[in-house]
This record gives sequence, structure tokens and C-alpha cells, in this order.
Amino acid sequence: MATLELDSITKTFQDGDEEIVAVDDVSLSIDDGEFLVVVGPSGCGKSTTLRMVAGLETITSGTLSIDNRVVNDVKSQDRDIAMVFQSYALYPHMSVRQNMSFGLEESTDLPDDEINRMVSETGEMLGISNLLDRKPSDLSGGQQQRVALGRAIVRDPEVFLMDEPLSNLDAKLRAEMRTELQRLQNDLGVTTVYVTHDQTEAMTMGDRIAILDGGELQQVATPLECYHEPTNQFVASFLGEPSMNFFDVTLEGDRLVGEVFEYSIDESVQSDLGGVTDLRLGIRPEAVELVDEGGEHAFETTVDVVEPMGDENTVYLHFDPDADPETAATLVATIDGFNRVSEGDTVTARVPEDAIHVFDRATGEALHNRSMEDAAAQIDL
Ligand code: ATP
Repeated sequence: MATLELDSITKTFQDGDEEIVAVDDVSLSIDDGEFLVVVGPSGCGKSTTLRMVAGLETITSGTLSIDNRVVNDVKSQDRDIAMVFQSYALYPHMSVRQNMSFGLEESTDLPDDEINRMVSETGEMLGISNLLDRKPSDLSGGQQQRVALGRAIVRDPEVFLMDEPLSNLDAKLRAEMRTELQRLQNDLGVTTVYVTHDQTEAMTMGDRIAILDGGELQQVATPLECYHEPTNQFVASFLGEPSMNFFDVTLEGDRLVGEVFEYSIDESVQSDLGGVTDLRLGIRPEAVELVDEGGEHAFETTVDVVEPMGDENTVYLHFDPDADPETAATLVATIDGFNRVSEGDTVTARVPEDAIHVFDRATGEALHNRSMEDAAAQIDL
């Protein structure tokens, strides 16, 4: 097991005359035994970051250390890491047992019966003991993924690097493997960096998540911190489904004035804004309440669309009943599945002040977030 330290890591690629900055000055410390999920949209630099840690890509500038040893110039096979790819990358002509033992045979002097014992043990741990003599082509996608994991585990590395390892599996199997991987990582205690673009994996699997955009690190924190206390609008919009609602507003006295509504804020929120007046109000769909009576922070709205999801409904609300639904400001709300509202209904939507986020419109920086403690207190944690 090991710590992992990325210190101002940058990677540029040359594309003709153009220089592409794939990873831009990323600094990250990953604790011994930690499960860190690196997440972000396509092209944000996730895979390049992982490949630099793996030694499959050179580092343009910055320092990479594994257990306090600088490894920038250490070859991939000498870094004591094991990588699991989306494509599984199994050798098709080898049996499962051979696929799992190959790395050990190449990199250690262990006797054959010791290697066999380790492969059998790992096979048992992953529930694939009965598949050890099969070829990869005779396995399902989920089984192949287990073999790829087994091949990494059997090497007992200092660090696991995983690049979208579950994305070729169907939704149900992916959910199962998510839990299993977490359990395995927990039992083995191996420092793990896990790359995904899937926010469910990010929210559920990692001790912490690192969010990248355009090669730049946006935030590194626990999933709940990133969700409730995002550093900026990008993080706020990336996490959460449906996404956070955003409205351009201007601070006028003690009110946030938007195109179609006004929202009063108390002194503590005002002081967080630090005199910035061009703002963006952020409201999570689950923070919106449908109430019987109007009042402060409540708005009369018209239901445009209802998407029933079973346990809950996603409801698209408009502030102005006569507005063009294509262009009108929409407030998306997540409400209880038993709450029967229909298209065209007039409903009162309340947005509690303790649940709002406010961003600097020019920079995207979060100036005011809902407090995690308050959010937890409300559900009596
Ligand atoms: P995805 O989720 O789509 O795999 P990613 O976040 O893993 O994306 P990277 O593959 O790390 O992103 O790519 C980051 C940026 O670097 C992209 O703009 C990509 O086009 C560029 N890039 C990656 N590899 C190369 C290369 N070998 N040559 C030139 N540009 C590259």
C-alpha cells in the first residue's frame, strides 16, 4: 500500500502547430488505502492523468511520487501498480488462469505452485473459481471484468488504477459490481484511483472525488461535500440528476432579482456575496417543495411536464403560464411519486432559503452554499 502525490502535474500534446493542454497543473495527495474517484466530462483529462500515474504517458512537468519516491522516470513495470481498463484487455488465446498468472510469472521469481495458489485464492475471492480453465471468449462481460480485476488483485500491487472498468456492463451488473468493487477495495486496503464519467459511480464509490474540467482540477473532497458545498458552478452542475437549476439574478438591496421572480435573502447570505451583484442562483430539484399556500420564497408556477419515476416525479415548472415553453425559465423539481400533479396544473413552489446556492456569474465561483450540517440536521442524521 502506498500514498500517491501529484504535484503540479501538467501534460501537453503537440497536434501540428497546436499545443493541447490535456492536464493543467494538477496537484493531489491520495492517502494510503484511499479510494479516489476522478470524474469529469469527456476530454477533461481523466485518462491522461491516470496514464501518467501508470507510467504509460510521460509527464510534461510536475512531480509524481508513490510512497514519497519520485517516479517520473521510473518505468511502468517498476512502479508496483496494477491497471484495470474498460476494455478488460484479456489475452484471448490464454485461459483465465493463464491470464491471471501471466503478470506474476513475468515480474516475479515465484514458483509455479505458489502462483497457482495465489490465482486460485483470488479466483475464489471473486467467485470465478469454476471459470479458471475457460477462455475469455467463453465468458460473459461481467465475468471478463472479474478476470481483469483478478489479474490486478493477484499481483498484490501498491496501487490500483482503474479506467472506467464497469462501463461495458449493463446497468444491473454495473450496480452489482460497484458494490463488489468497493467491498474488495475496502478488504484489500489498496490505494485506488478510479476514473469514470459516471456521476453515480463518483458519488457512491469513492472516499473522495476529484472533479476535472478542461484539464484543471475543480474540487477534491468527499462526495457529500462536493454535492452540498461545490466550489463552483461547474461542480454544482456536474453532480446531481436532474441537474441543479440556475437563474441569472442581480442583487438589489436584500433581494435577488431575476427575469421572472424575486427572492429575498437574509443578512448572512448577503454577507457571503461580498458585494458581488451579478449572480447566479442555484437550486437543487429536491430542494423545491410544493406547498398549499404562498408566502415568502414561494412562487405560483404552472406544471409544464411531469416525468413519473416511480418513487419520485420530476416536474418541470414555469413561472409564467403564458410564456413560450421552449424558451421560458424552467424550475425543475423532484417531488414524491405519490404527489399527483398534472400538466397544466397551477402549483405553489417553495424554495427554502437554507437550501439555495449563489454563484458569481462572472467567475462561476460559489459565494454561498447550503450548509452540509443544516442539510444533515433536516433529515435528523
Ligand atoms: P474520455 O472520458 O472521453 O476518455 P478523458 O477525460 O479521459 O476523456 P483524455 O483522454 O485524458 O480525456 O484527453 C484529454 C485531452 O487530451 C483531450 O482533449 C484529448 O483530445 C487530448 N489527448 C489525449 N491523448 C492525446 C494524444 N495522444 N494526442 C493529442 N491529444 C490527446
